[in-house]
Amino acid sequence: MAGIFGVISQENCVEDVFYGTFYLQHRAQDYCGIGLNDGKTLENVTHKGLIKQQFPKKIRNSLLAYSAIGVVSSDRQPVSGLSKAGGILIGFDGNLINHKQLKEKLLRKGRSFDGYYDVEKITDTILISKIISSESNFEKGIEKLVETMKGDFSIIALTRDGIYASRGWGRKPLILGEKDGSYAISSESNSFVNTGFKIIRDFDPGEIVFLSKEGVDVVKKLKLDNIKYGTFEWVYTAHPASVIDGKSVILARKNLGRALARRYPIEADIVSGIPNSGRWHGIGYSEESGIPYQEVFVRFDYSDRSFTPQEEESRTEEGDRKLIVLEEIVKRKKIIIVDDSIVRGTQTKNQTKKLKDKGAEEVHARIACPPLMAACKYGKTTRKDDECIARKMGIEEIRKTRGLDSLGYATVEDLEEAIGFPRDKLCLECWDIKS
Ligand code: SF4
Repeated sequence: MAGIFGVISQENCVEDVFYGTFYLQHRAQDYCGIGLNDGKTLENVTHKGLIKQQFPKKIRNSLLAYSAIGVVSSDRQPVSGLSKAGGILIGFDGNLINHKQLKEKLLRKGRSFDGYYDVEKITDTILISKIISSESNFEKGIEKLVETMKGDFSIIALTRDGIYASRGWGRKPLILGEKDGSYAISSESNSFVNTGFKIIRDFDPGEIVFLSKEGVDVVKKLKLDNIKYGTFEWVYTAHPASVIDGKSVILARKNLGRALARRYPIEADIVSGIPNSGRWHGIGYSEESGIPYQEVFVRFDYSDRSFTPQEEESRTEEGDRKLIVLEEIVKRKKIIIVDDSIVRGTQTKNQTKKLKDKGAEEVHARIACPPLMAACKYGKTTRKDDECIARKMGIEEIRKTRGLDSLGYATVEDLEEAIGFPRDKLCLECWDIKS
């Protein structure tokens, strides 16, 4: 996972690239980096950790750039390369399902990975930067990438002349914005809100664009088959303030909550989203059912998002630790909790126990997507198929073993209706293992 942001301006754009990237921090928290072009040289600064801590105001004040890219990611980025067309800094939100085969192929061809002596540590971004920089220009590099890779991506690349950007088959969002003659590219439009950029449009899948002082130039439109939008962006990954491919995240979440209320009505005293990602689904459920919305957990502000740790065990621990139950609210109440998804079900079990231990009379769960049947091959949810509880037991058994009084999942039809795309446009691979 990664959040990528690029900006080109007539003025120093360091604050814009910093804040644009900062507002994507929900997409990844392991590494952060900024690539800068002051008109003479490219500079790349990367760190482990959160961007706010690693690029404080004092550091930012010492930087100058008229075009720049920023990345928050689970691997160290931007990655620098030397292409035939010159130096290049790459930010990549994507994944290579065939990473191993591509790496072996490049190694067989004798391509060197200078500085990355341990081949096990060659990340997807390093690999794609090699593929792209081996071609004569960026667009040829992207053509090579889509010919050889399996997976999906959005990418930005800073050169001396401007910023290239491209979107693969649609699962990774990428959007273009404008402010007083400056242009920005971002994984999500929430990063435009407080930085003052206005949405121009989403990138089309297969599109390669070049941003320079002269403006925005569509360099090429590749004809890619099997375009699918990343359904989980609307359900969980994206920020509620984002609009992706013209569909508002917050409205999609509320619609899913409303659909759950119609599909699984039940008498209760309060509805609560599981903060933060279940909040807007829960508000939608409350609006449709007329049952008051009141949160039964407070999310401890200094916790990470629970999907970011690499191991499921650490994710569950993070998920448990971040939520503090509000005894005064739950005592003697019949409660509906609404969450984005269930992977292993351990967090649902622990949450139900916490609520019942504090005096909740009944706990009903409503889940804003169908039962997860497989790991996401595109790096968005769990990494292992066998972590998905729905592969091992039916809904009734999940309900019983999680201590719930009732359990209901949204359907694929609910997703289609809530997001506003038909199923053939939506990636549904983690819910339907046959597709
Ligand atoms: S497999 Fe699931 S989580 Fe992954 S991109 Fe497709 S819909 Fe999203």
